[in-house]
Amino acid sequence: MSAFEPVIGLEVHAQLMTRTKIFCGCAVSVGGEPNTRTCPVCLGMPGALPVLNAEVVRLAVRAGLGTGCAIQTTSVFARKNYFYPDLPKGYQITQADLPICLDGQLLLDDGKVARIQRIHLEEDAGKSIHGATGTRVDLNRAGTPLVEIVGHPDLRSADEAVAYLRALRGILVTLGVCDGNMEEGSLRCDANVSVRPIGSAVFGTRVEIKNMNSFRSVRDAIMFEVERQVGLITDGDRVRQETRLWNVDLARTESMRSKEEAADYRYFPDPDLPPLHLDPAWLDAQRADLPELPAARKARYERDLGLDLRTATWLTDEPPRADAFDQSVAGMPDLAAPFAVFLMTQVQAQLQRVERTWPELVDAMPVLLRICGKWRGGQLSNKMLADLLQTGFADLTQPLATALTGAESQAGAVLSDDAALEPVVDAILAQFPGEVAKYRAGQKQLTGFFVGQAMRQLAGKADAKVITALLARKLDV
Ligand code: ADP
Ligand code: MG
Ligand code: ZN
Repeated sequence: MSAFEPVIGLEVHAQLMTRTKIFCGCAVSVGGEPNTRTCPVCLGMPGALPVLNAEVVRLAVRAGLGTGCAIQTTSVFARKNYFYPDLPKGYQITQADLPICLDGQLLLDDGKVARIQRIHLEEDAGKSIHGATGTRVDLNRAGTPLVEIVGHPDLRSADEAVAYLRALRGILVTLGVCDGNMEEGSLRCDANVSVRPIGSAVFGTRVEIKNMNSFRSVRDAIMFEVERQVGLITDGDRVRQETRLWNVDLARTESMRSKEEAADYRYFPDPDLPPLHLDPAWLDAQRADLPELPAARKARYERDLGLDLRTATWLTDEPPRADAFDQSVAGMPDLAAPFAVFLMTQVQAQLQRVERTWPELVDAMPVLLRICGKWRGGQLSNKMLADLLQTGFADLTQPLATALTGAESQAGAVLSDDAALEPVVDAILAQFPGEVAKYRAGQKQLTGFFVGQAMRQLAGKADAKVITALLARKLDV
């Protein structure tokens, strides 16, 4: 295994967040009765002519600008010819020789720069639904606008491929190009994988893996495929160029078609669509309209807010989460880093326990910040915080913000005044004379034991710092 190096290049399809399809006025929408969001253009009726949606162009340009591509002032639509029941025209409109964006790059977590070859525009096909009574075709998806982002084979491990995909997703979501939902198929990834002996200057034969709809699948599929290819080569066999599918249930890649079966698409410029020319002044305006991108945001979190790389990455990975975080900590830089860690640990742990989603959390952000502040300030003990979060998150009868506010008022106040805590501390010391003697003989670490005992007495609703101070006063005499 260690004698070989994986070589990976990703092809990512991102569904553009437009209201209507790429070449007609039909609505882009998930669901809906089959074949209701169709018209002569997306049904491929003879004589119906495509008209390019301007918003599609704007979003593709944003994708290109966000990934450092050179935007092409002239690009050309082409026909990719093949037969499939869910492709009514008998060809897909895409861009071949002259795509809209060329030569970009992505900055990965480990500081590596991975190059992007091209970004082109294309239309999605319809859907074939295979059922017990036969196969039906739904053309609602036909004509949905996509960009395909083709990466260079610069990635050298499954983790790097995941990092590439995460970086790309973060940019597309931040720019409002794509909603980034992999489960629903708005962001789809094919991975090209080959292996070569370490030190070799030439690439091995590649296999393209399709059908991965989560980061997890991308990582697992690549790891499986690398091992499979290394196995073939070590056994004296060779890797055949083919397309394989990721079978999630069996956790293995399976052959789909070999190179010999691959279609010859006979690309040619689509005579129904004129070349796409972009006005340089308009392009400048697009460039000026970009928000802060994830890499810059992450750098700002580390530099200005003192977040560590892991926390900064976690926040930035989900742009709406980072937006909500930015809004809630505006004007309180001191609380920013602890609040970020609070979100990534305590709140994330709750999310893994109950069915709450991040959008819901975004609304609850101000309440969470207040709770975090109280906890940091000692007005809530660890135990009280844990109980409060547990209760608030579990209450699915009302919005999270309301549920947390309710749990917060129920939590009550922490006991922190000496008068209330002193009798408890005295009782504990009287109960454990042996430990007191050991402490006085030098076993100072017994403080933890005494604090724990007192907290137990107080059902966790006390300020441990005050108890610690009381103990010191009584024992260190
Ligand atoms: P095609 O036009 O047949 O799809 P390309 O050469 O354009 O082929 O490559 C498509 C994808 O495959 C790109 O993402 C590229 O990075 C990747 N790729 C090309 N060669 C290799 C290789 N030997 N190993 C892994 N990935 C590769
Ligand atoms: Mg390809
Ligand atoms: Zn239509």
